[in-house]
Amino acid sequence: MSVEEIKTAIKDKKLVCPQCSKPVTDFDKYIQMTVDVWDGFGDSRLGTGGDKVTLICGNEGCSWKERTEYWRNFLG
Ligand SMILES: [Zn+2]
Repeated sequence: MSVEEIKTAIKDKKLVCPQCSKPVTDFDKYIQMTVDVWDGFGDSRLGTGGDKVTLICGNEGCSWKERTEYWRNFLG
């Protein structure tokens, strides 16, 4: 799960706007969330806590955008 995945999904028109049903054309403010995992033996590992991104439709006449952790839900 990475920003490259989102870029590719947008480039391949795989993310679909729920409002106008056209491919999402842009995104903003991608962050990768990480969480410290404490294993109880003195080491902490860095785990992946998911990612969050603002999806922007960007098609004419549509102002849809959504800040989401579940961008995969928009894969058409
Ligand atoms: Zn749209």
